[in-house]
Amino acid sequence: MNESADVIVIGSGIGGLTSAALLQNRGISTLVFEKNCYPGGSCSSFQRDGYSFDAGASVFYGFGDNSNSGTLNLHTRIFRKLGIDVPTIHDPVQIHYHLPNGFSLPAYYDRHAFIDALTSRFPHEREGIEKFYMELDAVHDILSSLPAGSLEDVFHLASVGVSFPAKTIALALKTFRSMGKTARRYISDEELLRFIDIEAYSWAVQDAVSTPLVNAGICLADRHYGGINYPVGGSGAIPRALCRGIEKSGGQIRFQSEVTSILVDNGEAHGVRLADGSEHYAKAVISNATVWDTFNRLVTDSRYRVDENRFLRAPSWFQLYLGIDASVIPKEFYVHHVLVDNWENYNQPGGTIYFSAPTILDPSLAPPGKHIVHAFVTAEADQWQHYDRQNGAYRDAKETLAASIISRTERILPGLSNAIELKVLATPLTHQRYLNRFKGSYGPLLKPGQNVLQKPQNTTRIKNLFAAGDSTFPGQGVIAVTYSGVSCASYIARQFGKPLDELI
Ligand SMILES: Cc1cc2nc3c(=O)[nH]c(=O)nc-3n(C[C@H](O)[C@H](O)[C@H](O)COP(=O)(O)OP(=O)(O)OC[C@H]3O[C@@H](n4cnc5c(N)ncnc54)[C@H](O)[C@@H]3O)c2cc1C
Repeated sequence: MNESADVIVIGSGIGGLTSAALLQNRGISTLVFEKNCYPGGSCSSFQRDGYSFDAGASVFYGFGDNSNSGTLNLHTRIFRKLGIDVPTIHDPVQIHYHLPNGFSLPAYYDRHAFIDALTSRFPHEREGIEKFYMELDAVHDILSSLPAGSLEDVFHLASVGVSFPAKTIALALKTFRSMGKTARRYISDEELLRFIDIEAYSWAVQDAVSTPLVNAGICLADRHYGGINYPVGGSGAIPRALCRGIEKSGGQIRFQSEVTSILVDNGEAHGVRLADGSEHYAKAVISNATVWDTFNRLVTDSRYRVDENRFLRAPSWFQLYLGIDASVIPKEFYVHHVLVDNWENYNQPGGTIYFSAPTILDPSLAPPGKHIVHAFVTAEADQWQHYDRQNGAYRDAKETLAASIISRTERILPGLSNAIELKVLATPLTHQRYLNRFKGSYGPLLKPGQNVLQKPQNTTRIKNLFAAGDSTFPGQGVIAVTYSGVSCASYIARQFGKPLDELI
C-alpha cells in the first residue's frame, strides 16, 4: 500500500494542526485534510467587506513568557520550537463582567487589582476570596512547573513523577476536586457563589460545581500570570502560523478536502477516504473531529459507535458578527465582556451574552473608523433544525433573536443598534455545517462529579487511530486543545521511536 504520509490528520483545528506541526518538526511526515478553504476551525478568521472576524475564540492564553507562566505558555514554546514569530498584543482585562444588581467587575491581569475589586463588593468574604483564589494559584503553581506530555505515555509519567514527586501527588489529588465545591469551603455569600459560577461558565459552559478545579486553575490563575494576549491579525493568525510551521519542514495541508471515512481493517486504522473518492494511507490517523463525528460518521463499523449519552453534549451557539461605526465604543472600553441579566437563566440558551470587540486591540481588523463586535449566546441545534436555511422563516428567526441580543447589549453599549453597518448571523446549523461538528456542539463535557482524567485521552479503541481536539483531555478552549495536540504528538512520536524534545 502506498503511504501518503506517516500520519494523516483529519481537520485543521488547533488540536490537529498542533499535532501535525510537532510531528512534522520531529521528522515524522504529516498530511492534513481540511474540508474548508482556510485553517483553524473554531479558531479561524473570516473576511467580509473589509472586516476580518474571529469565527469563535478570541480570549487567548498560552502566549506568556516562561518567567511568568512557567510551562503553561504552550503557544510561546511551540512557536519558538517551530521558529515562527506570532506577535501578540497584551490585554489588561480577561473579561469585564456585567451581572445582575449592578454588579460590574473587570477581571484584571493585575491579580491584586482583581482581588481588591472583588472584595470591595464582598468585604465580609475577604478571607474566603483570598483562600479560594489561592487554591487556584496552587494548581497553577503545580501545572506551570510540569512539562507538557501525554498522560498515556508511561515514560513521560515516570519522568515527571521522578522529577516532581510531591507536585505529581498533589496534582493527582486535586483532580478529584471541583471548582464550585472548593469555593463553598471558603465562601457562603450566594451572590459571590454566583460570580464563581459565571467565572466557570464563561469558558467551561458549566457551573462551578461541574468544573474541575484543575481546569479552573489554568484559566482563572494564568490570566494573572501569562495573561491574555491577542494575536496581531486576529484568531486566524494562530492556525496560519501552525500551517507555516508544518509546511516549513515539508508537511502538507490540503484544503477543500473532506474526509468521508476512516479506513479500518481488523481493528486497525490505515488511512482515509475523501469526498472525491480518493484513498490515502498512513501508519497512523489523527482525528480532529468531535468524538461523535469520528465514531458515528467517519468510522462506519457500528461496533465502535459512541452512545450519545456517554457524555454531556455542550450546546451550540447563535453568533452575531457586526461591523459598526467606531464612535459608539467609548474610551476605556474593554475588549471582552460577559453579560447576565438575571441569575435564574444564565445557563439556559441565550441566558448569557458573550461579547468581544477585538479591534480595540488590533484596529487593522476593520476599515478605518469602524470596529468589530462579535456577540454570541448558547443555542441548541434542535431548536433550529426544522428551518430550511433558504427560507424566509429562518432569516426572520435569526433577525428576531439578533435584535433581542443587540437590545440587551445596549446596556453596556448604548446606541449599538444604530451604529451597525454590517451584520452576519450564524446559528447552530451554520456551526454544524462549517465545522462538521455534531449538532454544532461546543463539544463533550464531563458529567458533574467526574474526574477530569476521565476525559478521553488521545488513543482510541481502534489501533493507530488517535484523537486530538476538544473531545479529548483536557477539553474545550484553544490552550486546552493545544495541550491535547502536544500530548497526541508526543504519544505518537514515542511510538515511532522519535520522542519529542521537551518544549522549552
Ligand atoms: C463561539 C466560540 C467562542 C469561543 N471562544 C473561545 C475563547 O475566547 N477562547 C478560547 O480559548 N476558546 C474559545 N472557544 C473554544 C475554542 O475555539 C475551541 O475549543 C477550539 O478551537 C476547538 O479546536 P479543535 O481542534 O478541537 O477543533 P475545531 O475548531 O472544531 O476544528 C476542527 C477542524 O476539522 C475540520 N473537519 C472536521 N471534520 C472534517 C472532515 N471530515 N474532513 C476534513 N476536515 C474536517 C473542521 O472544518 C475544522 O476546521 C470558542 C469556541 C466558539 C465556538
